[in-house]
Amino acid sequence: MRKLAAGNWKMNGTSSALCEAEAIGEVANGARAEVLICPPTTLLSRLSALLSESPVATGGQDCHAAASGAHTGDISADMLRDAGARYVILGHSERRTDHGETDEAVCAKVTAAWNARLAAIVCVGETGEERDAGNTLAVVTGQLKGSIPEGASAETLVVAYEPVWAIGTGRVPTTEQIGEVHDALRASLAERFGAEVADGIRLLYGGSVKGANAAEIFAVSNVDGALVGGASLKAADFGPIIQALD
Ligand code: PEP
Repeated sequence: MRKLAAGNWKMNGTSSALCEAEAIGEVANGARAEVLICPPTTLLSRLSALLSESPVATGGQDCHAAASGAHTGDISADMLRDAGARYVILGHSERRTDHGETDEAVCAKVTAAWNARLAAIVCVGETGEERDAGNTLAVVTGQLKGSIPEGASAETLVVAYEPVWAIGTGRVPTTEQIGEVHDALRASLAERFGAEVADGIRLLYGGSVKGANAAEIFAVSNVDGALVGGASLKAADFGPIIQALD
């Protein structure tokens, strides 16, 4: 399986960020892992054009469940695809918290993404309170079941485990904690879609990944790459994470 280094730029970046994307493209040229940048939508088509000769794929950070219609301010999966995207992040904890997205809503968005021939990166993760209460595995496997429709495949689905308490905080779970969750996610996918499909679906870890901790995290079983926020904005930070997947 080809590992994946996915950058989530969130609501960061204007035209001046395009040179960072070019520099990331240069790192990706010599890398074994697949590299993905999910910029703000305003940059998506320019970034896709700029990177069209490089191995870097681009993606959206969200899409609407409907194909088109009266949804002011929203964006459809087809529009992302038209702007050059091959992936879309769905169910990020910031969407679940800031926009009240439920598993059911995320599931409908995944279907929309698949209808537009986008691969979905579905995010799951427990809050600090849920971990302290011993509910981590129940929470993440519940989110996984509720957020993914029937018919998933290795080509159409990536799962990102992102503990909410680790995102943007500099706090990272132990490698044992990451391994425990990733093993449970793999088992849950196997139960639902069969071992062969489940074994091909990439499971990313996300939450304060940096060049300094990437290699240790990537050595954990069932970790097939990373979803990276803050450290994906600059090639100098994202480059070492990409190279740690070699
Ligand atoms: C994220 O929000 O997807 C993320 C992993 O952020 P950070 O790397 O900044 O913790």
